[in-house]
Amino acid sequence: MSKARKEIEASLAKVQGRLEAALEEAGRPAGSCRIVAVTKRQPAARIEAALEIGMRRFGENVVQEAESRWPALRERFDDIELHFIGRLQSNKVKNAVALFDVIETLDRAKLARRIAREMKRTGRKPRLFIQVNTGGEPQKGGISGEGLPELLSLCREELGLEIEGLMCLPPADEDPAPHFAALRELAGKHDVFSLSMGMSGDYETAAKMGAAFVRIGTAIFGPRP
Ligand SMILES: *Cc1c(COP(=O)(O)O)cnc(C)c1O
Repeated sequence: MSKARKEIEASLAKVQGRLEAALEEAGRPAGSCRIVAVTKRQPAARIEAALEIGMRRFGENVVQEAESRWPALRERFDDIELHFIGRLQSNKVKNAVALFDVIETLDRAKLARRIAREMKRTGRKPRLFIQVNTGGEPQKGGISGEGLPELLSLCREELGLEIEGLMCLPPADEDPAPHFAALRELAGKHDVFSLSMGMSGDYETAAKMGAAFVRIGTAIFGPRP
C-alpha cells in the first residue's frame, strides 16, 4: 500500500472517529453528519488514495481546477459526489452546473437566475445551498442574514429552485460557534433543513451544532502544498 494511502486512511479514520463522538455527545444519530473531503490544490496521488479507500464525496473551490481532474476520475470511480464550495462567477455557471452535484455557494440573485436558466437548458439539477456571510466580511462571498429571505423567495417562488441548505465560512480568527448558531437559526426560521459548516479546525463543534456536512481538507489530506 502506498504511503499516501496509509496516511490518508489513518487521518480519515481519526476524523470519522471524532465526528461520530461529537454526534453522540450531542445526542445526534450516528452517520447524520457527512464529510466533504476538500481536495483543492491537493496532489493527484492523495486524491486517488482517498478514492481507493472508498471516499466518494469531495469539495473543490475553483471550477477550472475541478474540471482538470474530476471528469477523468469519474470514468474510473463510480458514485462520486462533487461539491462546489468556492466563489462562483456568473461566467462559470455553465461549467459548474455541468460538473458539480452540489453547489454550496449560491449567494446572489444574478447567480440564482443564471443557475436556474442553465438547469432548465441542460436538465441537470445540482443540489443547491445558499452561502451566508455570517461574519459580514466584505472579501468573502455569501449573502447577509438580512438579505437571505429575499434571495430565498426569488429562488423558491420565481425560479422554482429548491434550496437544500445553508452554508457558512466563519471568520478565521473568531470563535466559530456563534456563527454556526446564527446559521442554524436562519435555517430554522426559513425552513431550510441542511447545514454545511465546519472545517478541519472546528468540525466537531459544527457537528454538535447540527451540521449535515462538514468540509474537511487538511485534517484528511495534510497541508496543501
Ligand atoms: C478550503 C476550504 C475548506 C477546508 O479547509 P481545511 O481547513 O483544509 O479543512 C472548507 N470550506 C471551504 C469553503 C474551503 O474553501
